[in-house]
Amino acid sequence: MTPAVEQVSILEARRHVARSERVTVLTGAGISTDSRIPDFRGPNGVWTKNPGSEKQATLQNYVADPEVRRRAWSNRLDSPIWSAEPNDGHRAIVHLERTGRLHLLITQNIDGLHHRAGSNPDRIVEIHGSVREVVCLECDYRAPMAVALARVRAGEADPECGDCGGVLKSATISFGQNLVHEDLVRAEAAAKACDLLLAVGSTLSVYPIAGVVPVARRSGAKVIIVNAEPTEMDALADTVVRGSISEVLPVLVGARALDRTSP
Ligand code: NAD
Repeated sequence: MTPAVEQVSILEARRHVARSERVTVLTGAGISTDSRIPDFRGPNGVWTKNPGSEKQATLQNYVADPEVRRRAWSNRLDSPIWSAEPNDGHRAIVHLERTGRLHLLITQNIDGLHHRAGSNPDRIVEIHGSVREVVCLECDYRAPMAVALARVRAGEADPECGDCGGVLKSATISFGQNLVHEDLVRAEAAAKACDLLLAVGSTLSVYPIAGVVPVARRSGAKVIIVNAEPTEMDALADTVVRGSISEVLPVLVGARALDRTSP
């Protein structure tokens, strides 16, 4: 049986969702763990298990150290992202959009699974970029990741930009790298304009994007947080739902009934 207290918070959160007309959703790595992509800071997270790997995720290290780049390309070859499929959490957000209530989907994820689930690209802001493309850090070159990975497989351990010979990198935002200004402006505007902010599967500790939660709150929106563990912003939420995202989210958006007898 789902614990009574969890059922109460799910029902309360579902009422908030049903009453809202403009929902801004913020998703983090937790929505993709049920698609077998590990998060960073959850109990089985990549950084929880190997704290040293967080340091390698800085732009400065990537640019300065060819060995860091070689390791990044070689790790990327067998990333779980390439075989991952969207799960019921991603599909629940598609359902929310089809009922006309999704204002904007802001994702911290770089895996592209919201696109693959069928969310409208015009309503998605990938605030930390996407791993499905590569960019040159020196010129405007941009290409599908598959093209770069084919070069790595063919023997180029650290492929250079085909146009200018510059350093190639996934089109993601590393630590030490600025966010895309227009994306941040859109995200903040959506936090101000929504009547409900739904934060899903994020520790809400990565700034500036975690700041959309207090912005929405100050603008009068309800705040719902769905996460398996406490987050930095639980105190700001009207309702916190502690549980598995792929089970909880379909119920919150009305795509599935609450199963009161499931374990
Ligand atoms: P995070 O790793 O800091 O935290 C994930 C949170 O989700 C944790 O609190 C964890 O307890 C919770 N969680 C994990 N699986 C869950 C589940 N099935 N149900 C309920 N809760 C679950 O994630 P973050 O705050 O998004 O920040 C990490 C940064 O790293 C992101 O900004 C992103 O750029 C990047 N990242 C992306 C991916 C991806 O694209 N899938 C994966 C790892 C990291």
